[in-house]
Amino acid sequence: MKNTNTSQMSSQASHTHDVFNQSPALENYNVYQNDNALRDAVRRHGASWAEPQLLKYGEKTGTKEVIEWGFLANEHKPQFFPHDRQGFRVDEVKYHESYHKLMAMGLESGIHSSPWTTPQTGAHVARAAQSYLQSQVEAGHGCPLTMTFASVPSIKLTPKLADTWLPKILARGYDPRNIPHTEKHALTIGMGMTEKQGGSDVRANTTIAKPITATGAGEAYELTGHKWFTSAPMCDAFLVLAQVSEGLSCFLVPRWREDGSKNPIQVQRLKNKMGNVSNASSEIEMRGALGWMVGDPGRGVPAIIEMVAMTRFDCMIGSASGQHQAVSQAINHSMGRAAFGKTLIDQPLMRNVLADLQLEVEGSLAIAMRMAEAMDNSLSKNGNEQEALLLRLGLPAGKYWICKRTPFHAYEAMECLGGNGVTEDFIMARLYREAPINAIWEGSGNVQALDMLRALSKTPAVLDVWLQELNKTRGADKQLDHAVNKLKNEFADLHNAEYRARHIVDQLSLTMQASLLVEAGNTPVAEAFIASRLNERSAHNYGTLPQGLDLTAILDRANPWS
Ligand SMILES: Cc1cc2nc3c(=O)[nH]c(=O)nc-3n(C[C@H](O)[C@H](O)[C@H](O)COP(=O)(O)OP(=O)(O)OC[C@H]3O[C@@H](n4cnc5c(N)ncnc54)[C@H](O)[C@@H]3O)c2cc1C
Repeated sequence: MKNTNTSQMSSQASHTHDVFNQSPALENYNVYQNDNALRDAVRRHGASWAEPQLLKYGEKTGTKEVIEWGFLANEHKPQFFPHDRQGFRVDEVKYHESYHKLMAMGLESGIHSSPWTTPQTGAHVARAAQSYLQSQVEAGHGCPLTMTFASVPSIKLTPKLADTWLPKILARGYDPRNIPHTEKHALTIGMGMTEKQGGSDVRANTTIAKPITATGAGEAYELTGHKWFTSAPMCDAFLVLAQVSEGLSCFLVPRWREDGSKNPIQVQRLKNKMGNVSNASSEIEMRGALGWMVGDPGRGVPAIIEMVAMTRFDCMIGSASGQHQAVSQAINHSMGRAAFGKTLIDQPLMRNVLADLQLEVEGSLAIAMRMAEAMDNSLSKNGNEQEALLLRLGLPAGKYWICKRTPFHAYEAMECLGGNGVTEDFIMARLYREAPINAIWEGSGNVQALDMLRALSKTPAVLDVWLQELNKTRGADKQLDHAVNKLKNEFADLHNAEYRARHIVDQLSLTMQASLLVEAGNTPVAEAFIASRLNERSAHNYGTLPQGLDLTAILDRANPWS
């Protein structure tokens, strides 16, 4: 009797509080079904046929189980083992099983290959949408998925290599074993351009390649040198730049030689990155590594640029998808949390912030998916030249703008969750650390802006095509017309264009986003985008939308549960 009383007393004493006013976890929801902006874009750009599979994929990417894989893959960083237990050089990186599950999910569903294996109207749009869903779970494993996808146009330049390598690169499946590519049915591909003395300026590469017998496309060389930033070092082969007597050239360098011996690509260490931690990035040295030339001697940059164009596109999709996930989390939290007597989603100032964050997503998705359609149109059999020109300007402009806007967007969305947003228990901290990565990888901001100028000076027709695209909405909105006129003035005098390049690329991107949103026909979104982004203010902080806009319509589109 005495004992029971004591136990009752102690259980009462230990009851400190009830937990309430915490929003539910955003899980077990359909990431595709509830994404109105994405669904509209998929339909608008010719991929309605993919909706049933995207719905299925959206259901999977929203499950608690898959979301948990994303957390675990980041919590357990990849580890590097140079040797096996007997001392043989293996250069092996070991990952948490969740990373492998995410890789398998992406590779088995064809994120790395579907537009190449099944080219059809909307194939790139559908694949971009799928990648957008996948990347919301976890961004790091997206790096090898992207590089494998992007390597295809480069490898195709050399039929001798394409015949042997592409069937396995395009195959659906994942084989992470550290064994020769000849023994596998599915392969992944990485890239090695950046060296210690320069990443943007790849022509300064010092790695050299010597022919083993014959020279030229498809022939075998031995490469000696280093690469300072080679991500996903467990890929089965890498597209690598190295110098030959004719100049910088591109090579396909396998991890293992065909005789089963290890190709001497030695990982020195893994990068200790602030974000993108599930993805191992490494420093490597090649000590006479076998590689086959891709493209012609001295034409390494044009060869690898085929790959870089695709990875830049994926940076647009990856960053847009990070923005979307951030807004979904912010809205979810605001719907479930009250302060000062009202749910956050009903507080006027919070509505202003959330709607503004959603407008960013709408703009990012609009330009990214239009470029996906341009890829479909220009890379198809009867390649459309106009669309190729649109893409030529749209890739650097879109990559620059979307990636540049993402870190501040991630931070603002994080702030919507208050203190919870800062802890690693929520995805916001990871989204924030991920946000600057795409902006730096594959050509940093200035490099994109300068690439836009290069396109303009080498192929002036790109500007005509850009303006023709903008012309589709001429007369629909005075403020947009005015912004397009101002954009045209930027090109009237190209004096100091390099100095002004960021300003120009800003205007190119903003006017295109606005025009595409007008064309898409959602009036509340287009009106608010133009009113907040094409006005005369020099700075734009989130949550400063002007009055009189239909925020309810914008927020409804952003509700991850609707
Ligand atoms: C997560 C991650 C993964 C990566 N994975 C890979 C990989 O797999 N393979 C690979 O090869 N590389 C990889 N990189 C490297 C990346 O591509 C380079 O870091 C990037 O291209 C910049 O090169 P850099 O670091 O040498 O900087 P630098 O080239 O020195 O540039 C430094 C700064 O100067 C600016 N700048 C350069 N030139 C000019 C100019 N003319 N005018 C004005 N400004 C200029 C740049 O915009 C940048 O802001 C990765 C990077 C990251 C962050």
